[in-house]
Amino acid sequence: MRLQKVLAQAGVASRRASEELIAQGRVSVDGKIVREQGRRIDPDTAVVHVDGSRIVLSDDMVYLALNKPRGLLSSMSDDLGRPSVGDLIVERGIVEEHFTGAPRSRLFHVGRLDAETEGLLLLMNDGDLGHRLMHPSYEVQKTYVAEVMGQLPRDLGKRLRAGVDLEDGPVVVDSFKLVDSTPGRSMVELKIHEGRKHVVRRLLDEVGFPVQRLVRTAVGDVQLGDQRPGKFRPLNREEIGSLY
Ligand code: URA
Repeated sequence: MRLQKVLAQAGVASRRASEELIAQGRVSVDGKIVREQGRRIDPDTAVVHVDGSRIVLSDDMVYLALNKPRGLLSSMSDDLGRPSVGDLIVERGIVEEHFTGAPRSRLFHVGRLDAETEGLLLLMNDGDLGHRLMHPSYEVQKTYVAEVMGQLPRDLGKRLRAGVDLEDGPVVVDSFKLVDSTPGRSMVELKIHEGRKHVVRRLLDEVGFPVQRLVRTAVGDVQLGDQRPGKFRPLNREEIGSLY
């Protein structure tokens, strides 16, 4: 792999800025300064320093954000042949694009979104982090935007923050706000530390506002932003760090 790409993937700097670091003689490979652009190195074996500091080549760890479109199962394959995130990974050549030196087979999705829910789904091959994020005691905060029918009572936020009983136990919302409302329709944003199945739909059902559309817009500090449905993007260094 080209040295500037390795530096960019390791989060040192952008590709362009990494080229400048190389040109300025600040990068060494296996103990020798490299000034030539486009030098190919093996990230699994090369020892790279920038300004004398060893760079951890994160090439074997892959962290991706997907905007999961409505209608896809959050699974790598489906025995009944229903469309899944795994199909999208194959269709988009995601493994070929992102796994240069990394073990290919270990990409997994962190938790699930219902088939009808859209939005941010994280995928990675970092088993330690993935397990921690999925463990109930870790409780990373997730943000959802839900569209419901009808005008909401003023005290709904207070009620949700106080906690609502569901059949498998109470659920407490960290924050709740009205994002938009038109006659007969409301959009709300809620933040929740929860991974129970259908929890947002069940919660809003319970208070009398069945969900018409549900989008997950953030997991911890990782934001969906304007990422289009069906698109994958690599997480940046700060985003990865924020999940640890
Ligand atoms: N809550 C839901 O109801 N559905 C999801 O997909 C995620 C959270």
